[in-house]
Amino acid sequence: MTLYVGCQYYNCCAFVVIFKKSTIIIAMDMLAPVENLKGVGPKTAQALHGVNINTVGDLIYCLPRIYENYQTTVPIEELRPGKVIVRGKISDLRIMRTSRRQLTITEGVIRDDTGLIRTIWFNQPYRAKQFDPNREYYFTGKYELKGNRYILTSPSATLVQDIEKDGNAAGFQPIYSAKNAIKPQLFHKIISGIRSDFAGIPDLLPFIDGIPDYIKPGARAEALFYSHFPESPEEAEQGRKYLAYEEVFELILAAKLNKQENQRLKSIPLKFNADFTKKLVKSLPFQLTGAQRRSTWEILQALERRTPMNRLLQGDVGSGKTVVAALAAAQTALNGHQTALLAPTAILASQHFESLLGLFQGLQKANPGILMPRIALLTGATRDKKALKRLIRNGDIDLVIGTHALLTDTTDFHSLAFCIIDEQHRFGVNQRQKLLLKSPENTAPHLLSMTATPIPRSLQLTVFGDLDVSLLNELPPGRQPIVTKILPENQQTDELYPKMRELLQKGQQIYWICQVIEEKNSNVATPVKKQAKKLTELFPQYKIGVLHGKMKPDEKDQVMDDFAKSKIQVLVSTTVVEVGVNVPNANMIIIQDSENYGLAQLHQLRGRVGRGDQPASCFLLTTGEGKPSKRLREMEKSTDGFHLAEIDLKIRGPGEIYGAMQHGELNLQVANLSDTETITQASHHAGEFAKNPAEMAKYPELSARIKKYQQLTTLN
Ligand code: ADP
Ligand code: MG
Repeated sequence: MTLYVGCQYYNCCAFVVIFKKSTIIIAMDMLAPVENLKGVGPKTAQALHGVNINTVGDLIYCLPRIYENYQTTVPIEELRPGKVIVRGKISDLRIMRTSRRQLTITEGVIRDDTGLIRTIWFNQPYRAKQFDPNREYYFTGKYELKGNRYILTSPSATLVQDIEKDGNAAGFQPIYSAKNAIKPQLFHKIISGIRSDFAGIPDLLPFIDGIPDYIKPGARAEALFYSHFPESPEEAEQGRKYLAYEEVFELILAAKLNKQENQRLKSIPLKFNADFTKKLVKSLPFQLTGAQRRSTWEILQALERRTPMNRLLQGDVGSGKTVVAALAAAQTALNGHQTALLAPTAILASQHFESLLGLFQGLQKANPGILMPRIALLTGATRDKKALKRLIRNGDIDLVIGTHALLTDTTDFHSLAFCIIDEQHRFGVNQRQKLLLKSPENTAPHLLSMTATPIPRSLQLTVFGDLDVSLLNELPPGRQPIVTKILPENQQTDELYPKMRELLQKGQQIYWICQVIEEKNSNVATPVKKQAKKLTELFPQYKIGVLHGKMKPDEKDQVMDDFAKSKIQVLVSTTVVEVGVNVPNANMIIIQDSENYGLAQLHQLRGRVGRGDQPASCFLLTTGEGKPSKRLREMEKSTDGFHLAEIDLKIRGPGEIYGAMQHGELNLQVANLSDTETITQASHHAGEFAKNPAEMAKYPELSARIKKYQQLTTLN
């Protein structure tokens, strides 16, 4: 750590008051390597690097997952149902296996001076060996009625000795989550070791117009201190409030700076030929919805500009995004430039190719005088890649459809002016860099991201603040609503199979979704292969197909093709069919082990059906007894993707939903993106600051911190 001794920080007086310790403030360099901290030896440092904690700042920003108030510990004889903390010793531990699914139940008895209670854990067999029967633990869990008696279910456990320091009774305690190799206790120890240094944490946010009152000098150090060492729920909340603001500010600032960077780039303007577009629209096999018309026009106008378009086309599953993209690609070809369409999977790329080919051939037939884009599919399975790449390089292909590999490999374009990316949410800085290399010198292509995962307004203002949005908030007419039903697995025979049989007899098709491929994972869910076998026995007169991610690309294509052509009647698949796949004759989808999926994913999966003019249904199979989860009940109630996305955001939080990303990480720790007041304030504040981008140089830590948001690319 770089140490400055002295009082050169104007906020040091605040610390004198807070810490009542000394007047010497040691400024903390948040960007210094974590090795510089006391208590962090080479071994610990290595473990920290392993979980991406490299700087002092990274460490300090690993905030507690929750807080536990041990003062609310209750003697066993006074327990009431609900969330409780008990303090006692545990014994009589044993593991039981249930026959179905090899679910394990670990059982034990907790005792204190006043009585005893039974406790259980599901699928945590290690619990049986975790405890020392002679030591005391705090157990935090739910005390509830199971069967005919009250028990403590799935409690977390902490050794009393670990939290009662120096004989002091445990009070309000932060609980850190285990990060792979780093134990929460170790984490706690490192953080506690630098407790007195927190006073030296410098401010981060610019004190300029628009800053809310509570973001005062010293507020950051105080907030981080309160987050790690709170003495009361109020202190923890004060810390959270400041840090939530900081997080939202960073997100918004990153988006604003990205937008500014984008506006400095030059793109190839693509002239909007209204006559041409009108002719195409007229000869489509259907009438565009109002929303498709509006979005098409917005996009065609944006393509005319010299600054690159950076736009999100948002529309629920089945809202008809493809045709909007096709019209824009046709415009690009008319201008003599090229378009690349990137799909997340090879299956989807082939399917786009097929449907665009059909669409353009139809348009060509109806308008013999007009030339339609020459299109090609480039995936791993493409035979003569060399020849195709030559055509692309020479400009003999107007629209290339493929996966992301299109951009990273040796494909060169003659004049790439427009890039469409399907079913992923955005282009990040890194991807944009690659695109710059593919487009003509000194130009950047226009970008259109198409997504069916609805993005709540709060996220649009923050994470996606740099994107313009076109919205398809209207489904094509004639769509049948999808009837959704939660069905316990043991009712399949009576309820589900007859319905399947009836549908198959009508010549329609079915998706059956499983979570895992093979038997070895079968303790979590029913695997694809096993289920396919079972269905083959049940419906011997029909062809049952299998599809999963480990198959070779051309095998996958073959299966998908057979399904699309009705050669396969029931497709048993993992979630590889999740996005985009379009087989209008498939009118039933059964999702096995549906409790294991998130809401957004369930909605996507369900969107595979109801794409034709027949009624469609979706069955959510459950294994548990008890009441179905809120997620599943919401699925049953609503088919509105936007509504479900809002619910999902509330249930899981954005970190979970938009957490797993290719580059960079959106790991929101504290911000609540439904907090509109914070978003409004931070947006104003960041807006003022972004007016002078040169100022950023004075804020090296802020710059470093927002890099991760600037590089966000794909959010799933
Ligand atoms: P998504 O938005 O999910 O990508 P698609 O573009 O795959 O939706 O369209 C779904 C289906 O709806 C396709 O079969 C497409 O031909 C059809 N479609 C698109 N627009 C319309 C419309 N305006 N009227 C009728 N059918 C349409
Ligand atoms: Mg699509």
